[in-house]
Amino acid sequence: MISATTLSQLAADNHWQLIGHDVAFEKVILDSRSDSTDGIFVALVGEHFDSHQFIAQAIENGAVAVVVNRAVAFNIPQLIVDDTRYALGVIARENRRKSTATVIAITGSAGKTTTKEMLSSILKQAYLPSQILATKGNFNNEIGLPLTLLDIESEHQVVVVEMGAAKPGDIAYLMQFAEPDFSILLNAKAVHLEGFGDCDHVAKTKFEIVSALTENKTSAINIDTPYSSQWLAEAKHLGVNVVGYSADNKNADVFADDIIASINSCHFKLHIAANHYAVSLKVAGVHNVSNALAAAAIANAADISAESIVLGLNSFNAVAGRMQAVTGMKQSSIIDDSYNANPDAMRAAIDVLCSAEDRKIFVMGQMGELGKDELAYHRQIGQYAKEQGVDLFYACGELCRTAVEAFGQRGLFFEEQSALINSLSEEIQYGDTVLVKGSRSAKMDVVVAAIVKNN
Ligand code: ATP
Ligand code: MG
Repeated sequence: MISATTLSQLAADNHWQLIGHDVAFEKVILDSRSDSTDGIFVALVGEHFDSHQFIAQAIENGAVAVVVNRAVAFNIPQLIVDDTRYALGVIARENRRKSTATVIAITGSAGKTTTKEMLSSILKQAYLPSQILATKGNFNNEIGLPLTLLDIESEHQVVVVEMGAAKPGDIAYLMQFAEPDFSILLNAKAVHLEGFGDCDHVAKTKFEIVSALTENKTSAINIDTPYSSQWLAEAKHLGVNVVGYSADNKNADVFADDIIASINSCHFKLHIAANHYAVSLKVAGVHNVSNALAAAAIANAADISAESIVLGLNSFNAVAGRMQAVTGMKQSSIIDDSYNANPDAMRAAIDVLCSAEDRKIFVMGQMGELGKDELAYHRQIGQYAKEQGVDLFYACGELCRTAVEAFGQRGLFFEEQSALINSLSEEIQYGDTVLVKGSRSAKMDVVVAAIVKNN
């Protein structure tokens, strides 16, 4: 936090009731087991927990005040609020408002973390590491985002935050706390359909990163998606400054051409305004060119030099589990894309695999949260793998049974991941390229670890 905040100030600004004396706090505590010295303990309530029961422990560990949804019988200053989760966001926004840093928010169904890392790599060319703050890991929800905002210190000059959504309204909710200067809208895909119903609702929710910007702010919007024209029209209507980026449309403000993709790199020409620059990304997949363009577009809008943009992109290293090229057993080439999956990302990864010259092995884990059409989505992936020329198809997880059937001969289905690993380890030969991909819940990183480790 940038400076201590007083309870009386928060109470006055937000019409919260203050019980007890005024006190200043220097940090926000959610976990009562942690060192809470000079901190305010926010008692969150979830589906399966109520942190009000941990207040005694927080006080024991040094908390000087609590945020609660009802008065509690402890002799400690307390702020009474309707919703402690919302109050956490409000306290985080106080800290964000004290900062002079440029705040950049990123959303999209896929590519948030990668784009954040690419942008961070660019920013490191222009700022000292201590001047940059970025979301750690996946702290991009209604808890993680406020925690990131609370980490802003006075030395930070630029803050990059990821925003995730699982249901309509989630992005607007986060935007009210982050109040970003710039935003990036990557894409909208058929993920988290259990919360959204259909992809149109995903697209609408993602667009909140544009519609909830305050006046005179700028958003980078991917113009290559089925929703792009609708997004651009709405952004224009709202008067938001838009930088459009594209991996295949030369009319975009920022675009790429001459893309040469291999299984571990992408070379392309980056066009910004009337200039162009050669970029060599050390990561596969044309979708990563798109992520790089998003980072470049917003960096340019934020007045980062083209030189820094190019150096930053060239020095970017793949984030673990996202199209990461690693050497496997018998000197095979592993494409570790095990971090997560959705149908589009599966197809994109299969495209990369099929650019390999020798034998191509696809190891598929289940895709989660696809709603009622989940079986059809899995079957389509098996079909696609066959059409694109995958030589051998390994899969595990019940939903993948239909994908293996669609792939046909040379498709192997396993009920147990360990059995898949045993068979695959025997099969891999010198020169093979092996793509491993599945949803987080499918834990395909275990497969990667097994076929790398036996090197
Ligand atoms: P999550 O919400 O699960 O944290 P994320 O949005 O942070 O995901 P990344 O971690 O950057 O996304 O990438 C996850 C996977 O999504 C990658 O392994 C890749 O397969 C795919 N992916 C990344 N960028 C794109 C993109 N622009 N278009 C399509 N797929 C992408
Ligand atoms: Mg992420």
